[in-house]
Amino acid sequence: EGHLNDPERQSGDALDRALRPQSFADYVGQEAIKANLKVYVDAAKARGEALDHVLLFGPPGLGKTTLAQIVSKELGVGFRSTSGPVIAKAGDLAAILTNLEENDVLFIDEIHRLPPAVEEILYPAMEDYALDIVIGEGPSARSVRLDLAPFTLVGATTRAGLLANPLRDRFGIPMRLNFYEPKELARIVLAAGRKLGADISEDGAIEIASRARGTPRIALRLLRRVRDFAEAEGAKIDKAAASRALLRLEIDEDGLDALDRRYLSALVKTYAGGPVGADTLAAALSEARDAVEDVIEPFLMQKGYIARTPRGRVAAPLAYERMGLAVPDANKQ
Ligand code: ADP
Repeated sequence: EGHLNDPERQSGDALDRALRPQSFADYVGQEAIKANLKVYVDAAKARGEALDHVLLFGPPGLGKTTLAQIVSKELGVGFRSTSGPVIAKAGDLAAILTNLEENDVLFIDEIHRLPPAVEEILYPAMEDYALDIVIGEGPSARSVRLDLAPFTLVGATTRAGLLANPLRDRFGIPMRLNFYEPKELARIVLAAGRKLGADISEDGAIEIASRARGTPRIALRLLRRVRDFAEAEGAKIDKAAASRALLRLEIDEDGLDALDRRYLSALVKTYAGGPVGADTLAAALSEARDAVEDVIEPFLMQKGYIARTPRGRVAAPLAYERMGLAVPDANKQ
């Protein structure tokens, strides 16, 4: 069923849309990325050219889609959106590309999941704004080149390493999104709370923000659940109310949820602190390997609970301390 902290779980789509920032000014945090993008956007606009292709990478829920939309708005061009797994055939992508208007932004989420045959037609499209189409079969087959309108591809992926080099190299602007600071998430939560008409105090927002795994999508989801509990209690969302609700949601002080705790417990107890492979851990948790690698592990790594080594995952001393266990010598650093 997924867990509450799973940033990939979609819910409240209409609300999501209403809460989406519409400009760089509304987009909280990621300051270095924003500052650079602004320069590139202004320069492309001044020249009347398409912005260079942008690759955004980082865990789900950090604001990649939102940023792509903002870029198209700031450029004053159209926005088309699709995703790697949705495009099955080269013809599907060709249809999208031929329908783009001059300097449009095409957003491809999960671009690492494009089938290889589709990826191939992206290369000339990105480089020369051209499509190479093969007409006929066998010895009489010939290739025809079709011109496309100049466009900007914004690709999103969870890890840069998932992309084949030839594809990665064709993005002039690669950018890595980082986890957000609790302060930044608190601003997002407060702004969203206001838009929702919720009675939320600053310390209530900070409480939610500090347990949201550095991820806006999770912060906004927690806000909605906390608001439900607060309304049921007839209380405003202050620190105490937020804390009570988060306890009921089984999200602890560090923002770890039940699945994170199961992960740590499997790693430390079942597999003696590792090293253990991601596949093995995913099987032990009955979760998809992608979910383990893209959602659970980046946060646990950032917090210093685990480390990824060439031989597999290992538990850091902090994981043992959290569980009230002695740190074995092999896991001391
Ligand atoms: P991703 O594409 O990386 O999975 P999204 O762009 O869909 O993430 O963002 C998830 C949610 O978080 C959206 O509802 C979005 O409005 C909100 N959000 C993301 N980043 C920010 C930000 N920097 N400031 C405000 N809201 C944000």
